[in-house]
Amino acid sequence: MKIFGAVEAGGTKFVCGAGSGPDDLTTLRIPTTSPHETIGAAVEFLRRTAGADLAAVGIGSFGPVELNRASARYGCITSTPKPGWRNTNLTGAVAAALGVPVGFDTDTNAAALAEARWGAARDVSSCLYLTVGTGIGGGAIFDGRLLHGMMHPEMGHIRLPRDPAVDPYPGGCPFHGDCLEGLASGPAIEARWGKRGEELPAEHPAWALEARYLALAVANFVFTLSPGRVIMGGGVMRQAGLFGMIRRELAGILNEYLQVPELLEHMDRYVVGPGLGDRAGVLGALTLAERAWEG
Ligand code: ZN
Repeated sequence: MKIFGAVEAGGTKFVCGAGSGPDDLTTLRIPTTSPHETIGAAVEFLRRTAGADLAAVGIGSFGPVELNRASARYGCITSTPKPGWRNTNLTGAVAAALGVPVGFDTDTNAAALAEARWGAARDVSSCLYLTVGTGIGGGAIFDGRLLHGMMHPEMGHIRLPRDPAVDPYPGGCPFHGDCLEGLASGPAIEARWGKRGEELPAEHPAWALEARYLALAVANFVFTLSPGRVIMGGGVMRQAGLFGMIRRELAGILNEYLQVPELLEHMDRYVVGPGLGDRAGVLGALTLAERAWEG
């Protein structure tokens, strides 16, 4: 029997899994502390759960990460602002400890893979997955292939128009100030309004502004990538009513320029939540493991 291991490596927690798919996945959540402690706990879980049946491991990681196999830093988390994690060789550590092939990609690319295979995009040939939480990231998949280029897309750092008269908050991205992540991530909401998003009521102006920024971002991705569906996950997207506001804003921004039924008639099926809930990342990592095993 063949068991695949999965690690969704996040900035606040690692979600580890072992199994072959959504129906038999055993998972464990580990808080992200130091690389040594956290990776050690993930390896220990995979050893204990899969034992000698472990065929391969897949890792979907927060980043930025190095995906170029020709690079000496392949498999590393590179320029993260997260203390202690810069230049951590995540893939090397897991491969050395377990002695099996290790697949590696970003956490959002992994989530996109799983949603395309088992979740909200299983009936379309392309999709964009956006996560809006502690950070903002995006992954796109076309006919089963993830969009990779020079490295991986960093969709959370695109620039959006910000009117300082409406939104004086200068943005919280340490690299770019008011990029998408700097304006619309969970920490940006908290910094702008002095309260966490969960504490802001549905009628609070925070949400109209949030919907505006996210709709502007989605419009940019629709114009540049033309995905068959847009899936939005992450903690911020749990806010009731946010999807409706984003769809309305998006329709206004697109202004019927793109004459397709997905956008003109079925926006409620075009911009959707994840079909796999919180398991998209770890299930995507499982798919990365399967692909690494297949070579
Ligand atoms: Zn940025």
